[in-house]
Amino acid sequence: MDKKRNSMSGKPNKNAAMKNLGFISLIIIFGLILLAATNQNTKLQTIPITTAIRSANNGDYSTLKVTGNEVLITKKGDNTPTLKTYVEPNATLKVEGLDYTKVQVNAVAASNGSSTWVSILITIGPVVVIGLILYVMMKSAQGQGNQALSFGKSRARLYGNEKDKVSFKDVAGSNEAKQDLEEVVEFLKFPKKFSSLGAKVPKGVLLVGPPGTGKTMLSRAVAGEANVPFFSISGSEFVEMFVGVGASRVRDLFAKAKKNSPCIIFIDEIDAVGRRRGSGMGGGHDEREQTLNQILVEMDGFEQGQNVIVLAATNRADVLDPALLRPGRFDRRVNIDLPDRNDRFAILKVHFAKKPTSKNIDLDALAAKSAGSSGADLANIANEAAIIAAKANRNEINNDDVTSAFEKVAIGPERKSKVMTQKDKEVTAYHEAGHALVGHVLPDSDPVHKVTIIPRGGTGGVTWFIPPEDRVYASLVQFKDILARGMGGRIAEEIILGRDKITTGAGSDLQNAAELARDMIVNQGMGDKLRNQVFKTDDGMMIDRLVHERDYSDETAKIIDDEVEELIKQASIRAEVIIKANLKYLEALKEKLLEKETIDAKDVDEILKGSKMPEKAKLY
Ligand code: ADP
Ligand code: MG
Ligand code: ZN
Repeated sequence: MDKKRNSMSGKPNKNAAMKNLGFISLIIIFGLILLAATNQNTKLQTIPITTAIRSANNGDYSTLKVTGNEVLITKKGDNTPTLKTYVEPNATLKVEGLDYTKVQVNAVAASNGSSTWVSILITIGPVVVIGLILYVMMKSAQGQGNQALSFGKSRARLYGNEKDKVSFKDVAGSNEAKQDLEEVVEFLKFPKKFSSLGAKVPKGVLLVGPPGTGKTMLSRAVAGEANVPFFSISGSEFVEMFVGVGASRVRDLFAKAKKNSPCIIFIDEIDAVGRRRGSGMGGGHDEREQTLNQILVEMDGFEQGQNVIVLAATNRADVLDPALLRPGRFDRRVNIDLPDRNDRFAILKVHFAKKPTSKNIDLDALAAKSAGSSGADLANIANEAAIIAAKANRNEINNDDVTSAFEKVAIGPERKSKVMTQKDKEVTAYHEAGHALVGHVLPDSDPVHKVTIIPRGGTGGVTWFIPPEDRVYASLVQFKDILARGMGGRIAEEIILGRDKITTGAGSDLQNAAELARDMIVNQGMGDKLRNQVFKTDDGMMIDRLVHERDYSDETAKIIDDEVEELIKQASIRAEVIIKANLKYLEALKEKLLEKETIDAKDVDEILKGSKMPEKAKLY
C-alpha cells in the first residue's frame, strides 16, 4: 500500500499575505482616486440654462448650488441634486432672469470646477500610490532579507488555540500508547506531585512507529490533554545548506519553549538529525552532528522545575544515535504499531462518524480486509469514499463507495478510459488468470480477493490476495507460495503465447519476487545453504550508499545470489507445473475475465472448483 504522509501543519505564507495586503490597498486607493476624479456630479443629467431658469421661476426647484460655472439643481421634495446646468464662466453669481424669491441659491467659492477634496486627492494621490508601491517592494525585499537573517531562528510552529486542539478521544485505538502518554500528561499537569517525592520528570519521550500511525496526532493530543502549548518542528527543518544553522535553530527553539513552560516540544522525524554519528562522510554529516549535539546539550541543560517535555517521532528508531537514547534524554519510548483489526474498525468509525453514510456500509468488513493499513490510510479511504459519493451526486456514502475507495487507495485509481487492444486484453486476462490460478491452488497462499483486467494505477490488471486475518509472522512456505503465484503471470504468458511473445506486463511481478527472495535469504535466514544466517547490509543515507559497505565476503555474496536465483527458479517451476496441470481452468478464468473484466472471490472459487494441486508442486 502506498503510504502517503499528510502533514498536519500547513504553514500560511506570511510574506504572501503581506504582499496581498499591499496590493489590495493599492487597488482601493486607485479606486478612490478614480471615484473622486470622475466627480459623481458628472452623472447628473445636464439641462440647458434656459430650461433651468424657467423651471426655477416656476417654483419646481428648492435649491441651486453654484460652484464656479456649475450649478447643481435640487428639485422640490428631493434631498440631493438630480440635475445640473452651467452658467458663464467667472460670471457674477447673479443669474440673469432668475427669480431669486422662488429658489434658494447657495454659492460656493469656485476651485477650478471641482471640489477641494478632489483636488487634494489628485495632488497627493500619486504620492501616496508611489509611497505604497515602494513600501510593498521594501517589505518583500526585507522579507527575503529577513529570511536570510532568520536562518538561525527555529521555524517551530506553535499550536495552542482551541480550534485545532486534539485530545486522546480523537485518537482511536492505540490504547497502550495512550496509557504511556497519559503519564506524560500527568507530569505536565502536576509536576509538584512527582518532584515532591524526588522523582525526576522525564525530559524526552520517543514515539516509534510506521508512518501514518498517528504519532503526530498523539503528541498533539498530549498537549491538548495537558492544556499546554505545543511547539512542532520537523527534523529535516534543522538541516539546511549552511553549517551551524541547525544548531542555532535548536538553541532558539529550546529558548522559546523555556519561556513558554510548561510546554511540549515536538520534533517530528528526528531520524533526519538524530542518525548515528561518526560515519564522518561529507559536510552533511558535520551539520547533522552539530545539530544533534545541540539537542543533547539543550536537553541536558533543562533545570529541574523547567517543565518542558520533548516528544520526538520516528519510524526508524534503529538508526538513532545511542546518545539520544541515554537516560536523561529520550529515555522513554512509546511504540505505536500498525492498527490491528479492532483498532482499524475504531479508526474507521471515527473517520466515518463525521460523514453521512447509508445504513448498509460495512466498516467491519473493511477493517477485516485492510490489514497493513495505517490510520492515515484509513482516514484517506474515508475521505476518498466521500469524494466518490459526492462525484456521483449522492448525499450519502454507500458500501460500494467504500469498496471503491479502498481499492483506489490500495492499488491506485481505475483507468477505464485507457484503451486496450483486444490482443492486450487477452494477454492481460491470461496473465492475471495465471496469478489467480496458482494462488488459488497453492495451500499456503492467501485467498484470491479480486481479479481485474481494468488498468489500475500503473498496472495493466490486478490479482489481489487478501489474508483472511491479521498475521504476525510469515512462514517459509507462505513466502514460497507468494513467490510462485507472483511468477504465475509470466509463466501463463509463456505457456500460452510461447517464450518469444512474453510481455513487459510481468516486470513489476519479477521485481517484487526478486526483492522478497533476497529478503528471505539476507534478512530472514531462510536460505538453504546459508541456513539461519543473516547479513547486514548498510542502508544509511544517500552518502553511505556510495561507499557500499557490507559485512560479508565476496564468496558469501555469490552464495546469496545463488540462493536467490534458486528460490525464483523453484517458484517458476511450481507455477508452471500448476498451470499446465490446470490448463482448462486457466482458459475458463480468462474467458470470464474478458467477459466481465472484474471478478470477485466468489466467481473465482466457482470457476476454479475442481482445480488440483499437482504432486510435483508440493513442498511437503
Ligand atoms: P504519523 O505522525 O505517525 O505519521 P499522523 O499523526 O500524522 O501520523 O496521522 C495522520 C492522520 O491519520 C491523522 O491526521 C489522522 O487523521 C489519521 N490517524 C492516524 N492514526 C489515527 C488514529 N489512531 N485514530 C484516528 N485517526 C488516525
Ligand atoms: Mg507525523
Ligand atoms: Zn502480474
